[in-house]
Amino acid sequence: RRAEFAALRDQPALSKDGVRVQLMMNAGLRDDVAALETTGADGIGLFRTEFQFLVSATLPQRERQQRLYKDVMDAAGDRPVIFRTVDIGGDKALPYMKGPEDEAGGEENPAMGWRALRLALERDALMKAQARALLEASAGRTLHVMFPMVSEPWEYEAARDLVEQQRKWLADRGKLGPGAVRYGAMLEVPALAEMLDQLLPRLDFLSIGTNDLTQFLFAADRGNPKLADRYDWLSPAILRFLARVSRTCREAGVPVGVCGEMGGRPLEAMALLGLGIDRLSITPAAIGPVKAMIRSLDIGALRDVIPTLLDEAPRDLRQRIEAWAIGNGV
Ligand code: PEP
Ligand code: MG
Repeated sequence: RRAEFAALRDQPALSKDGVRVQLMMNAGLRDDVAALETTGADGIGLFRTEFQFLVSATLPQRERQQRLYKDVMDAAGDRPVIFRTVDIGGDKALPYMKGPEDEAGGEENPAMGWRALRLALERDALMKAQARALLEASAGRTLHVMFPMVSEPWEYEAARDLVEQQRKWLADRGKLGPGAVRYGAMLEVPALAEMLDQLLPRLDFLSIGTNDLTQFLFAADRGNPKLADRYDWLSPAILRFLARVSRTCREAGVPVGVCGEMGGRPLEAMALLGLGIDRLSITPAAIGPVKAMIRSLDIGALRDVIPTLLDEAPRDLRQRIEAWAIGNGV
């Protein structure tokens, strides 16, 4: 079906009943950006900035970061690029940077350790340099930036304040910065879902990182093959959790999307659309298959059956969702 998927490149991600889904792609390196053209994605919904740090022999200086961000935005043209600030530490350790193993005798659970925003807020020289690079790279355009592994609203506030301070620093010196900045948080730590009433009023968008979120919800290491069938993305617990987050965001008028691998599987993506989530950022290879699914789907009809399915919460929920898809020509 590859030819069929390729032919969809210039077709919109429009459902049968006329819902326009925002179908974006994930990227991390300069070369990934070419896939915008080959897939026809609506933009980059997750640009993993730590990749540049991970492939470098030394800490990338601000100018190098800035050049990368500008190249990516130039290549994307009018399509938005959402930059995620560095998610390093934990299992993505940098050989040239002192980590917790040097300071605290190592970490037993790096995924739950001193990583991402936790590290960036403490090592704030790193975060400031990245903020400056992002702001200067987006001179005259809109900058979309989001923060990884936010556990509590104050962490988001602190990160946003730090970027705003850099923005002011540039403005005070007469340097051109972005015309506007759109701020987002990633929802990857379950605790944050309990604090959305406080977080959402300060946000421009929320992006759910289902890779980390589900490993924390089920206390099952995402990288351990022995645990791969400990949970199913179509299990009632995950879908109920996401349904609640989606409803809360809708009521608050804050756009919500998913940028984890879950959204790159057509059946899982279909379930997400059924929960009211209509922004997905997925691996480029999945754009064609997911777009084909969207174009054959009546989202309204699916949204009518999802609440009953989640109330019943049958153990064979995956099979029930699959049966609905087959029965409805998806
Ligand atoms: C996630 O956790 O779902 C996510 C998108 O971030 P990463 O896979 O980079 O941890
Ligand atoms: Mg993550």
